[in-house]
Amino acid sequence: PLFSELGLSAPIQQAIEEMGYRHPTPIQAQAIPYVLMGRDVLGVAQTGTGKTASFTLPMLEILSGSRARARMPRSLILEPTRELALQVAENFVNYGKHLKLTHALLIGGESMAEQKEVLNRGVDVLIATPGRLIDLFERGGLLLTQTKLLVIDEADRMLDMGFIPDIEKIVSMLSPLRQTLFFSATMAPEIRRLADMFLHNPKEITV
Ligand code: AMP
Repeated sequence: PLFSELGLSAPIQQAIEEMGYRHPTPIQAQAIPYVLMGRDVLGVAQTGTGKTASFTLPMLEILSGSRARARMPRSLILEPTRELALQVAENFVNYGKHLKLTHALLIGGESMAEQKEVLNRGVDVLIATPGRLIDLFERGGLLLTQTKLLVIDEADRMLDMGFIPDIEKIVSMLSPLRQTLFFSATMAPEIRRLADMFLHNPKEITV
């Protein structure tokens, strides 16, 4: 398959080309069309398969196709660690370099005051670890009512790190009409149970 066949617009295809990517990886080729259709996706994929782009690229496409009036976060990406969150933010910036979308990186070990300031200015996408997102939410000023696209990445690590109660809490702050993308390296029964809880009729993709 070709990137030009996946339904991504010119500014995004150009960024991909500039990254030097020639062909979509299997998870990208399979997931991107379903995300663009508005389907929930359950992706069983390890790091290194190109899974970050499989959710970041269609997210950029969806967000660039419509603009919220007040810049409330329209998408939320949850990562288990600050390192992964930083990597995803870097990807988001690279793939979105020809678009005018904004993000906030909400991770531990960084100034909470600065993160609040960024949120107050208004952003399209939040890239967060669960603990810091909840801290900021509880301090007020973070509204997730317009957040209609949620990514739960590395669900198996979230489970290992004890983040599931936090994630349940975060999901309860979002619209029930949201679209959810859920990725895990493994599909143990416990992960399957989580997927059932968070996803609605997902397209399941295993690579
Ligand atoms: P990930 O699995 O998302 O951590 O991606 C692993 C690595 O593959 C990252 O360094 C990406 O920049 C790179 N990558 C992702 N998609 C492609 C692609 N279609 N062609 C070449 N490299 C890619």
